[in-house]
Amino acid sequence: MCKNFVIQFIYLFMYLFIFLILFFISSCKDNSMNKNDLLKKLTKEQFHITQEKGTEAAFTGIYWNHFEDGMYNCVVCGEKLFSSETKFESHCGWPSFFSAMDKNKIQEKKDFSFGMTRIEVMCKNCDAHLGHVFNDGPRPTELRYCINSVSLNFEKSETVILGSGCFWCSETVFEDLDGVTDVTCGYSGDKIENPTYELVSSGRTNYAEVVKIIFSPQKISYEKLLDIFFSSHNPTTLNQQGNDIGTQYRSVIFYLNEEQKITAENCKNKIQKKFKEKIVTEISKFKQFHKAEEYHQNYFKKNPNDPYCTFVIKPKLEKLKIHLEK
Ligand SMILES: [Zn+2]
Repeated sequence: MCKNFVIQFIYLFMYLFIFLILFFISSCKDNSMNKNDLLKKLTKEQFHITQEKGTEAAFTGIYWNHFEDGMYNCVVCGEKLFSSETKFESHCGWPSFFSAMDKNKIQEKKDFSFGMTRIEVMCKNCDAHLGHVFNDGPRPTELRYCINSVSLNFEKSETVILGSGCFWCSETVFEDLDGVTDVTCGYSGDKIENPTYELVSSGRTNYAEVVKIIFSPQKISYEKLLDIFFSSHNPTTLNQQGNDIGTQYRSVIFYLNEEQKITAENCKNKIQKKFKEKIVTEISKFKQFHKAEEYHQNYFKKNPNDPYCTFVIKPKLEKLKIHLEK
């Protein structure tokens, strides 16, 4: 009995030993492959900063004084990390942001190197070192994400603000299009501060339910987005989309610059030929956008079985899909 137990123990120990050896060999192989791939993909400086936690010299990176509209993506994996909307002039010599695009896309951990206590910021997807975050930023977060330019890749983007009835529908139409980076439901068209859904729904304001779409013009054009906009709702019914009635549901394009205004007017005239009734879409200068309450964001994805999603949004998407395939 005792002898059997010893033999079983030796076998178990051998299996465990072999398993550990194989595991060690495979992990070494993976690491060296990753490292080789990264050495091929990245420049020497990119590798040093993102993989060996280096820091570029202040005022030397390409983005510390860069203020175009767009996204700053991870140079290693391409993850969208910071938006130009949160970038500010910190005079520190590195690109500074008061918040990340999505907290879930970055990881933060304590860093005790160089005799200091700092919070290191890394890309959650690929562990690339990005920089550090400090508590001396501007409002609303009072944080300063101090990031190496070398860790980032800038992608130019544009913004368009469109109202086509209920914003749950509009958001669903645009959010999964290739080239669209972000879609946010909100209110535009009035000046009252901090509008709520209840106030806008009352029809007592000039706010319209809109979506703010951030897109990459290299991947999808403003004209294409307007074509989808005009095809995804009825632009001939004044202040009404189906059963949704009121000025808050009006068809509207808020242009951000003269170029957008001219393109919007040209698209409207072109699309008019496809309609018997007159297109009533308003084309107005953009003033301000207020993000709608959190429960309105991603409504279709969060509530796929909601009757409005089933009977209004789903058929609309199917119809649009057929149109886009033509
Ligand atoms: Zn990454």
